[in-house]
Amino acid sequence: MELQKILDYQKVDLEIYNLENKLKGSDAAKAYAKASSLKKANTEDAQKCVRDAEEVTVLIERYRHSYDKIASEIVGIADVLDTFEEPKEIDMFEKKIEQYKKELQSIEREMTRLAKKLDDCSVKGVECVNKVVQCNKEITASKGKIDIMKKEMHGSMLVLMNSLEELKKSFPADFIKKYTEIRKNHKMPVLVPFNEAGKSCYGCGMDLPSSISSELTVGKFIDCPNCGRLIYKI
Ligand SMILES: [Zn+2]
Repeated sequence: MELQKILDYQKVDLEIYNLENKLKGSDAAKAYAKASSLKKANTEDAQKCVRDAEEVTVLIERYRHSYDKIASEIVGIADVLDTFEEPKEIDMFEKKIEQYKKELQSIEREMTRLAKKLDDCSVKGVECVNKVVQCNKEITASKGKIDIMKKEMHGSMLVLMNSLEELKKSFPADFIKKYTEIRKNHKMPVLVPFNEAGKSCYGCGMDLPSSISSELTVGKFIDCPNCGRLIYKI
């Protein structure tokens, strides 16, 4: 493989990489990412509000059932209270009614608390849904801006991609595979020269052991043990 050809390939690829980064680092892309993550969080919160509200509703129904049951028991006892003659018996049932009343009060307090919780769920749920709507607007707006940028870049990107495809034909597939893997790790440029003065990698600055650097000859590549880039000698 001819070094100059490989460096030409990398030069074109770097231009593509920079265009990609320009798009990724744009305000529109950042706004898109922010709105998307906010939308996700608010959607999850809204779903939680629904689940909480369902649980609270079940509890309220359960308390309401107990309340009705106790209330009807009190009415039942009160209706027959006059028929009791023994003071002891009357006393016992009056105490029972008192106990029931306390239970009713406790249920009332609990139902008031749950009703408040239900209201809170509803308010928060509406807030979350409103935020999701707002996020959707921001997502649409920033996506529109991103699409415009993509359109503007399309021409130059196409030229670069075609050029890259053409240059790619000169290299073995396994070399391109390796290059692509290093690129995916954002180690750009992938190919870096050997720093003769510092006996180090120009990509990350790591000093290379002489056992490794001595293997390096013109036209050969070695992997940097630190950053994984391909080091070449001029
Ligand atoms: Zn390195």
